[in-house]
Amino acid sequence: MSFIYQIRVWSKPDAIDSVDFALDVAKRTLEYYEDFFKVSYPLPKLDLIAIPDMGGRDENWGLVTFRESAVLFDPTTGSVADKKLVTMIVDHELAHQWFGNLVTMEWWNDLWLNEGFAVYMEYLATDNYNAKWKREDQFMLDTLREALDVDSSIHTHPVSVKVRNPAEINEIVDKITYHKASGNLVEVATIMDSWVTQKGFPVISISSEKVQKKDGRLSAYTASQKRFFRDFTSMHLKDEEHTKEPGWYVPLTYITEGSLGSFRTVWMNKTSVTLQLPGSLSGWFKANVGQTGFYRVNYDEENWKTTESAITS
Ligand SMILES: [Zn+2]
Repeated sequence: MSFIYQIRVWSKPDAIDSVDFALDVAKRTLEYYEDFFKVSYPLPKLDLIAIPDMGGRDENWGLVTFRESAVLFDPTTGSVADKKLVTMIVDHELAHQWFGNLVTMEWWNDLWLNEGFAVYMEYLATDNYNAKWKREDQFMLDTLREALDVDSSIHTHPVSVKVRNPAEINEIVDKITYHKASGNLVEVATIMDSWVTQKGFPVISISSEKVQKKDGRLSAYTASQKRFFRDFTSMHLKDEEHTKEPGWYVPLTYITEGSLGSFRTVWMNKTSVTLQLPGSLSGWFKANVGQTGFYRVNYDEENWKTTESAITS
């Protein structure tokens, strides 16, 4: 599906024997991204340039500049760690040929989308280049560690920030924008995945039970989930696709008669969840407050009755 394009890696003359590795990475990664994004690399050429004494790297459409250690690999003295580093950095900058260049955020406050995604792609593409490195398994560890470190400081900033003028851009080019954003994107993708890759939606069944605690009475509700089909018949039982029980990430909101006015949210992570509430079980319990959740709720008979009498009284 790709167009014909030329990839070149440039270096000073005496380092020219160290460009082959990056060239191979760039070639394989462009093919990988073309297949992954289903969008061809649209330019006739891509140049990677190793610049002596350069501080970081600079990415433009079709031309990326690097400090020498980020792109050159000396086959006689280089280590596996050097190879991984070059692969990660090249893969990150090449992801921007799509995210950043082909599509661009409207303004710098959304830099996190650009960088968060490029960080994630660098892990996927590096695993594509060499699966033995298992970089994707490291992804959450690396990004969480980096982001938690910075984000635990009082001087941190939200992932999305207001940028009023170009001078403020440098202030957000940091681990929050790169690593926290990247981790957040994967979390969102995991949650989204359960909703966009599975058919149907869940019915959440709420049942109540009385729990006795030493220090007083406590009531508990159990919320369990099951796929809801209004027209499921015994015929479908043979069909494995319909019978295997899926699970959803559900932000379950609820209010009780005692907590009127404020609602709570509990996450069901593809499983059941038990909610312990102070006080007795008298009164009604209502989930999916405001009907904003994409799920149905069913209750045990007792709760239906108390709800009914609350409505009709
Ligand atoms: Zn980047």
